Amino acid sequence: MRKNLPPPPEPVNRIPPLDLARQYRQIDAEASAAALEVLRSGRYIGGAAVSDFEQAFARHVGTAHCVACNSGTDALYLALRALDIGPGDEVIVPPFTFIATAEVVSEVGAKPVFADIELATFNLDLAQVERAITPRTKAIIPVHLFGRPLDMAALQELAAAHNVAMIEDCAQATGAKWGDRRVGSFGQVGCFSFFPTKNLGACGDGGAMTTDDAELAAKLRMLREHGQKERYRHDVVGVNSRLDTLQAVLLSVKLRYLDPWNEQRDRAAQRYRELLAPLPKIALPTSPAGGQAVWNQYTIRLVEATSEQRDRLRADLQAQGVSSAVYYPLPLHLQPVYQNLNYPAGSLPAAERACQEVLSLPMFPELQPEEQEQVAYALKDCL
Ligand SMILES: *Cc1c(COP(=O)(O)O)cnc(C)c1O
Repeated sequence: MRKNLPPPPEPVNRIPPLDLARQYRQIDAEASAAALEVLRSGRYIGGAAVSDFEQAFARHVGTAHCVACNSGTDALYLALRALDIGPGDEVIVPPFTFIATAEVVSEVGAKPVFADIELATFNLDLAQVERAITPRTKAIIPVHLFGRPLDMAALQELAAAHNVAMIEDCAQATGAKWGDRRVGSFGQVGCFSFFPTKNLGACGDGGAMTTDDAELAAKLRMLREHGQKERYRHDVVGVNSRLDTLQAVLLSVKLRYLDPWNEQRDRAAQRYRELLAPLPKIALPTSPAGGQAVWNQYTIRLVEATSEQRDRLRADLQAQGVSSAVYYPLPLHLQPVYQNLNYPAGSLPAAERACQEVLSLPMFPELQPEEQEQVAYALKDCL
């Protein structure tokens, strides 16, 4: 007798990792009108639209200043430059993040020093950060990975005790809070990305830096515009890193939806927790007790899995129409580009384990409960 017959094949509904077209449909009228106005104005660089966005974004984050730029990577680079970090200096970064966090440290001529993460949160382990501090340490770059904030009270205390600067990498955490304050308002500089897949995404590249320090804001402005304070007078070597007027107006429209969108993400995360809690062998992402995550990714761990097992699960899910992604398959200290830093395999075990075990499930504000159910059924079936 045959038992456990598979269910009859149903037409597979494909669930994307995210769906920006679905999001655009909600704001189509407003966003298209704002974009057309810019296109018809003939004014494409700078202008009031950019400063209006900077002011609105500073207000949202809760800082006195915001300086917009061309990308999250540039924001981090400019923050390091504005803090005069360069050759001979060390900057502590996590090994489990997007390459940009460390890349910018190398770009200014300083040395990235990797401190291991906590597996449960995917964020820097503060005890490891403290151990990595040396007399050459100039700054720490905490990354609020996947939208989950670090304990900023503890980190501020640590940075102050050792007299090192803190530059927050908020690329994946726009809108997240620690206590009742937004991320990006704790460090000397908060750095944001408006890459389309981030919580506040432009229709192209964009970024911003937030700070309470007027002098630092002026320096960031100067650096982003060829090192000039007044036109055609260049005091330092800067870069060209502007936020386009077109992106600024689109971001101003989307900023009004950021909080409700983040709440929708939070509801989706709660639904995943209910649906997936009964499943064996997986660890679900936790919400911080002292803050509010904004779930740029919903990343589960396949506990004790090898990367081959995780990749097989990913392929099986794909066969059932469920997209998933691996952020990140290789930690930064084991990347070819950082072999010169001599971190052997096994030296940062939590980050290395995370790279083997993680799988990010579909997550975006418009994700429907039925879609999440399909994800859960597929996962249960594949595990
Ligand atoms: C996206 C991202 C960046 C870089 O942002 P871009 O706008 O793509 O340059 C930096 N850090 C982290 C953690 C990111 O996810």
